[in-house]
Amino acid sequence: MRDLPLARFTIDRAAQLRSNPLWFEQAWASQATRVLVLHERKIPITAELSVVWVKPWSLKMSASDAKEAALFLGADAEHTYIAIMKDEVGLADVNWASLRDVGSQLSATDVGLATSAVALATWHEGHNFCPSCGQRTTIAMAGWSRKCASHETEQYPRTEPAMIVAVEDTAGRILLGRRREWPQGWLSTLAGFVEAGESCEAAVIREVYEESGIHVDLSSLRYLGSQPWPFPASLMLAYRAIATSTQVEMHDDEMTEVQWFSRAELETACDAETLKLPSPVSIAFRLIQSWYGTDIPLKWCRD
Ligand SMILES: [Zn+2]
Repeated sequence: MRDLPLARFTIDRAAQLRSNPLWFEQAWASQATRVLVLHERKIPITAELSVVWVKPWSLKMSASDAKEAALFLGADAEHTYIAIMKDEVGLADVNWASLRDVGSQLSATDVGLATSAVALATWHEGHNFCPSCGQRTTIAMAGWSRKCASHETEQYPRTEPAMIVAVEDTAGRILLGRRREWPQGWLSTLAGFVEAGESCEAAVIREVYEESGIHVDLSSLRYLGSQPWPFPASLMLAYRAIATSTQVEMHDDEMTEVQWFSRAELETACDAETLKLPSPVSIAFRLIQSWYGTDIPLKWCRD
């Protein structure tokens, strides 16, 4: 699966610059630097759905304050791209949007940079203290780590692998389920986190069985692609699998309903609005679309 909405990073991350002690001073003083302000995990966008990039001086922040909140995202021939995590935004005439809501409509450059920015900022928010000694940590490596001064240890942003799978039966039907916390009618492909010490393939087989009672054949698993999902820290790894059984029986309480759909049954349920498919920004949408075979009408999907 290509061009997944949040997996369209096009800019050089220029990781070799992160350890340059002057990276921030050089970027902050440059006319070529473009800044993405992040506020409560949201990004500023125009009415035409492009990200609002600003010049460093327009933020009216002291360089020392900005340095403590700056994340280096990458660089191309024209620009250096940074994000600033900010409590008070001070930007006029912008809309604040979640990547979940606008990610599929942004340009590849904008969404790639914004996805890394949101993932990093979310990690910083929750990792202000050293896990060994409890002391407050400080931002390091141009925003790509945090350091504890008392014993020189460094923490790095974690990504949590999760699998998502389109399970098909031998008649070509797809297995969709509703999580307990979702409203009536919201169904999606099965998904779950990879556990400690587990392979992703084993997680597919385990989660499908726990959530649906369906057995899938390991040799039928086909890896289709991945997409970062920084809400808060997942990487979704997508598979297709063929079931060797069809009797649905839930073994945990994560799901309230799981059922098989043929293409015709899916169309009928979506047209009747008794079924709402996942949002186009999600990898689940793309999995379902690749099973369906042609474009899925957006009116069948959640916003
Ligand atoms: Zn420490």
